[in-house]
Amino acid sequence: MSPSSADLLRQVKSEIDEVDPSEVKELLQEGVAIVDLRETDEISSGLLPGAKHVPRGYLESRIEAIVPDREAHVILYCASGNRSAYGARTLRDDLGYEHVQSMTGGITLWKDRGYEVDVPRTLSAEQRERYSRHLLIGEIGVDGQQKLLDAKVLLLGAGGLGSPTALYLAAAGVGTLGIVDDDDVDLSNLQRQVIHSTQRIGIPKVDSAEESIHALNPDVRVVKYPVRLDASNIMEIIEGYDVIVDGADNFPTRYLLNDATVRLKIPVVSASILGFDGQLSVFKPYEGPCYRCLFREPPPAELAPSCGANGVLGVLPGTMGLLQATEVVKLILSIGDLAIGRLLLYDALAATLTEVKVHRDPDCPICSRPPEEIGDEEMGVFPDYEAFCAAAG
Ligand SMILES: [Zn+2]
Repeated sequence: MSPSSADLLRQVKSEIDEVDPSEVKELLQEGVAIVDLRETDEISSGLLPGAKHVPRGYLESRIEAIVPDREAHVILYCASGNRSAYGARTLRDDLGYEHVQSMTGGITLWKDRGYEVDVPRTLSAEQRERYSRHLLIGEIGVDGQQKLLDAKVLLLGAGGLGSPTALYLAAAGVGTLGIVDDDDVDLSNLQRQVIHSTQRIGIPKVDSAEESIHALNPDVRVVKYPVRLDASNIMEIIEGYDVIVDGADNFPTRYLLNDATVRLKIPVVSASILGFDGQLSVFKPYEGPCYRCLFREPPPAELAPSCGANGVLGVLPGTMGLLQATEVVKLILSIGDLAIGRLLLYDALAATLTEVKVHRDPDCPICSRPPEEIGDEEMGVFPDYEAFCAAAG
């Protein structure tokens, strides 16, 4: 008579080495290899901290990649300790692992004891579909999409540059978008500020932008700042953001933003537009030049085009805003070559993109100092940039 499966299991368990969850808990700190043998649809409620997941059917083919050293201490577990008992015998007898144990009672007993688990981050079925074209790219995939969903990006302005940037970052699934803008939607904005609409003329731009973003992607949290950025509020607003998108249209804000972001070491993706010309650069504090390395003093007022109303080709902020959005996504994903130390100049009429190398200035009034010395009490919280810019004129 052949043995029943219960007999077989008893037999296997008597042959292998079992370990109690309390002992495994102690061993977690010591770098033992812990392998979860459950199926993919069983792990959503959590794994042991630091455990690697290998479904039982793939154990033989994948274990070497995870635990190359056959003398290493390996602990297997499953839901209740049965599959891991068979797995332990296979690893020892067939694959030559010398020190394999199976955890008694599996993760069920582990959880009954109240021990900690790591809940894996997964995308919902809807998110898998929404971001499917990202998931197909090796450089992004599920991990990259999670990074985008976890990212916090602050947009200065929901205007010409901010509109396309915000829409595409929202579509890409950047999880938190902060928007600083104290203006209302005006008819003259709509030639280029595509996040707004004719029926929303007169309402605050932050509210209009939020409406468009939520209509496009409800995954995105919008944080609204219907204020003008100044020395009294900048630190409070920008702290905690991963990247700042600068679409500011005036020099005082640009200088203030530079000094505050160097202090907090937050990268800034900056662009500006005028007529048919656009500029873009990424300022990553202490890795490349800051804005002050390039433009130590504000230009004289008559050469500072942003002081009054100026013409701009309506599609140009679209081009430049999407170059900004692209750099933001690359920063979040840590992929590609960022436009750090490079000023990209786009000439829409000539259809050319040229590049100027820019360097850190060792005597830069801002980034030659350590962060804690920027804008401290001695310097005055931050200089009065309105006066600073006016004086330069
Ligand atoms: Zn600098």
